[in-house]
Amino acid sequence: MKIITILSLIIITMVYADSTTTYRWPFVTGQGADTIISNFCDFRPQDVSTPHFHEGIDIRACSTSRKAYDVISITSGYEILSNPDSFSYGWIVKTRFYTDDTLGTLIPNQGAHHIHMLEINDSLQANKCYINTYLSHQTKFWRNHLHLEYIMLGTNSYSKNPFHITELPIPLADATSPILNKIYVDYFVLGSATVDSLNFLGYNFDQLYNSGTFKECSLPTSTPANDLDDPHIMVYGNRIVKFVLQGWDHFNKTDDYATPSIISTYIDHNISSLEKACYIVRFDSLLSSPDEVHQEEDVYYVTAPCSSAYGSAQYYRLYPHDNSSDGMPGCIITDTLVVDSVLVKTDNLEEGMHRFRVVAEDKAGHKKTGDIHFYLRINDWVDISRSFQD
Ligand SMILES: [Zn+2]
Repeated sequence: MKIITILSLIIITMVYADSTTTYRWPFVTGQGADTIISNFCDFRPQDVSTPHFHEGIDIRACSTSRKAYDVISITSGYEILSNPDSFSYGWIVKTRFYTDDTLGTLIPNQGAHHIHMLEINDSLQANKCYINTYLSHQTKFWRNHLHLEYIMLGTNSYSKNPFHITELPIPLADATSPILNKIYVDYFVLGSATVDSLNFLGYNFDQLYNSGTFKECSLPTSTPANDLDDPHIMVYGNRIVKFVLQGWDHFNKTDDYATPSIISTYIDHNISSLEKACYIVRFDSLLSSPDEVHQEEDVYYVTAPCSSAYGSAQYYRLYPHDNSSDGMPGCIITDTLVVDSVLVKTDNLEEGMHRFRVVAEDKAGHKKTGDIHFYLRINDWVDISRSFQD
């Protein structure tokens, strides 16, 4: 009888064991995910719950040949924190981690949530430890994706961007740069100014410029060195404008939309050094403590005419908003505080030409730059050459 028990244990272990115990991706080796379909801090307006930041990454588990997948914890040794829960959107399994395969050392305060599995390993029990054991065997997924959250446990637990976990190598190359589509100039809602296209010396920027409640300026696939294909506008009147970005990060497919890893802005002399950003958001962690309650509208533009939406256009505010301080939304903490106090207050700038730059960077280090040039007109035009005449 004992021999049979041991034998069946060995068989179970063989069935559930992954070949490489150091493999940290939640899909078993060889069953790799096809695509990251959304990542940390994507804005979710109203999908399955109230508007919220997406607190993890979504890994699409589809391929034409394979119908069901095995899901393993992202560490080989883990403890089930509570009995797995089943919801209309699939099972959720909460774990915390051990450093190795022996369950010898618990990593303090680190765990994960795996969500959307339609079946789980029904032997999993709360407060029990497992080594190399699948959370789910041959499962399908609600809406065909696994949602993975990396949680820092504790009194004020918070979620961390899984891309920022060095022990969790992403088996997919983020092969392409972020895409910067448009910069919107808000001259009317939070701004107060008159804005026109600035055509000069035979150049006509009207083609990049649409009127509306916000002026919409298309960003060509320009390089930082080529200024003349950037939008050029004139700002006058009360001269207060706010800039909103529409863009996203691509991974390796044309239909994935993800949040860039960092978005930062620069103006005039800051551009040459690219050291002191006027405004920077790093999508790395979300705090849940009461004084750091994250507000999506601090980062995303969520009302008309620039309503962010999951899976399509995401509009990012390029300025502090609401409960932000130090030029940074309180909801998204930074590894290194690099925020300068030089905020873009266009009404305080000198008369003349200015350049505003937004840089979006993905976790792989790809950067995309978008520039908008604006002439800030304070006085009426002065014809200097004529004024020097006798
Ligand atoms: Zn998700």
